[in-house]
Amino acid sequence: MTELIDGEEIAADLRSELQAAVDSLADSGHRPTLATVLMSPDPASETYVAMKQNDCEELGIDARDIELDVDEPASELFDVIDELNDDDDVDGILVQSPVPEHVDYREVLERIDPMKDVDGFHPENVGRLVAGYPRYKPCTPHGIQKLLEAEGIETEGKDAVVVGRSRIVGKPMANLFIQKAPGGNATTTICHSRTDDLAEKTRDADILVAATGIPEFIDGSMLSEGVVVIDVGINRVDADTDKGYELVGDVEFDSASEKASAITPVPGGVGPMTRAMLLYNTVKATGLQEGIDVAL
Ligand code: NDP
Repeated sequence: MTELIDGEEIAADLRSELQAAVDSLADSGHRPTLATVLMSPDPASETYVAMKQNDCEELGIDARDIELDVDEPASELFDVIDELNDDDDVDGILVQSPVPEHVDYREVLERIDPMKDVDGFHPENVGRLVAGYPRYKPCTPHGIQKLLEAEGIETEGKDAVVVGRSRIVGKPMANLFIQKAPGGNATTTICHSRTDDLAEKTRDADILVAATGIPEFIDGSMLSEGVVVIDVGINRVDADTDKGYELVGDVEFDSASEKASAITPVPGGVGPMTRAMLLYNTVKATGLQEGIDVAL
C-alpha cells in the first residue's frame, strides 16, 4: 500500500503549534512582524507574496508589505532593506525573487541582516547550516524534514538521493540529510544535469527528493520498490481544465506510486510545508531577537 503524504494536514498541525507561540509572544508585547519586499518582474511573485501575507495574518503575525517598481534603481531596494534592518519592530525580511536583472540578487541576500533572514539564504546562515549549527533552515528542505518526521520516516542510515542542486532546495536539502542530528544521518547523493546515468543513482534511493523543475521527469522505472518519494516540483502544464493548465510535479505520480511506500502529491505535498516553515522561521526570529525561548 502506498501512503499519500498529506502536506496540508501536517502543515495545519504545525500552524496550530505556531499559533500558540505567536499568541504567547504577542501577550508579552512581542508580536512577530514579517516584512515582504516585492520588486519582481514575474507576475506570479505578487500572488506568492499575497499568500505569504495571508498566512501571516491568519496566525496573527504582522505582515508589512513594501512594493517597489521594477524600474527603480537597485539603490532604492538597498535603502528599503537598510531601513528594515534598523527597524526594531521588524523581525523577518523576505525579498521575493526573482528581482529585476539590474539588481544583483546576491547583493540583496548579503544586505539583509542575517538575524532577520527568514529565508535562510544569507551566506552566514548558509555557512551555519553547512557547519552543522543552523540558525534559519531554508523553508522547503526544512519543510521536507518536518514531513518525514511527522510521517515517522527515519532518515538515519538511509540512502537519500536529491535530484537538483539549487541554492534554495537541492543543496540545503542534502546538507540537512547529512547533519549529525535528527532528520539527518542519511548517506546522501546529490544529482544534477551533469550526472551520468541518473536512473542508476535514483534506484539506490530509500528516500528520493526530486527538485528539477522538469515536469514528471522521474518515473517509476527510475525507482526501487519501497522508496519514499518527495516531489518538490511545481510545474504548470497545458491541460483541458477551466484554467487551461494543471499543476504537476517533477515525478510521474502514477508510475512512481506503484513503487513507492510513501509519496507526496502535487499540489498538497511539499508546497504547504514551505509556506508553514516561513511562519516558523519568523516566529523563531522574534524569539531570537527578543531573547525569548519560543521552544519550537
Ligand atoms: P532550479 O532550476 O534552480 O534547479 C533545478 C536543478 O535541477 C538544477 O540543479 C539542475 O542541475 C537540475 N537538473 C536539471 N535538469 C536535470 C537533469 N536532466 N537531470 C538531473 N538534474 C537536472 O530549480 P529549484 O530547485 O528552484 O526548483 C525545482 C522545482 O521545485 C521547480 O519545479 C520549482 O517550481 C519547485 N519548487 C517548489 C517549492 C515548493 O514549495 N514546493 C519551492 C521551491 C521550488 P544543474 O545545477 O546542473 O543545472
